[in-house]
Amino acid sequence: MKYRTILLFGAPGAGKGTQGKILGTIPHFYHCACGDVFRNLTIDNELGRTFLEYSSRGELVPDEPTVRLWRENIVSHQQSGRFDPNRDILLLDGIPRNPNQAEMLNDTLEVKAIFYFTCPDMEKLVERLQRRALRDNRLDDANLEVIRTRLATYESDTKPVLDFYGPQLVHTIDATQSPVIVLQDILRIISKF
Ligand code: ADP
Repeated sequence: MKYRTILLFGAPGAGKGTQGKILGTIPHFYHCACGDVFRNLTIDNELGRTFLEYSSRGELVPDEPTVRLWRENIVSHQQSGRFDPNRDILLLDGIPRNPNQAEMLNDTLEVKAIFYFTCPDMEKLVERLQRRALRDNRLDDANLEVIRTRLATYESDTKPVLDFYGPQLVHTIDATQSPVIVLQDILRIISKF
């Protein structure tokens, strides 16, 4: 059985996590952020060390261990009853992060919609990430060079995921607006589903 899924899609700093956390509190929606799954690993875990190595450079963790970890995590949430695919729509944030991951997850995800958070102003994204560094204790947000690499990786590797799913699923959200207006725009679309 495939998971009914909405992808929260956009550049680092566009606000996917902020909205995902709010939307995940609505009954029958389940928010899962791949970056959080990685950050819950510990340093005595081999993949935890791999994550630190790649994320501290602003690069993507290799696809195979990423998808494996993500699958294990969602299955354990399913077994514990936190996520019920018969009841819940999965709000997926941070995965798939390139077309190969999308291919690998094709047998698992039934993507119903993609909320594409757009923010043409790169400097605004950089500013948001730098502000988040201390608040969320994120090392990868503290270094300007790492931020630039992440934004470049998003452009080169992640954006092609949109072509994988095709334009009919994509809902563009203006991520430069305040969080409450972004939420309003999303709810307007979700309520029509
Ligand atoms: P952001 O979107 O702000 O960069 P995330 O928490 O989504 O933050 O990701 C942080 C880091 O975790 C990424 O730079 C990458 O190293 C790693 N990561 C998260 N999700 C994936 C993924 N699906 N594939 C590969 N690496 C990932």
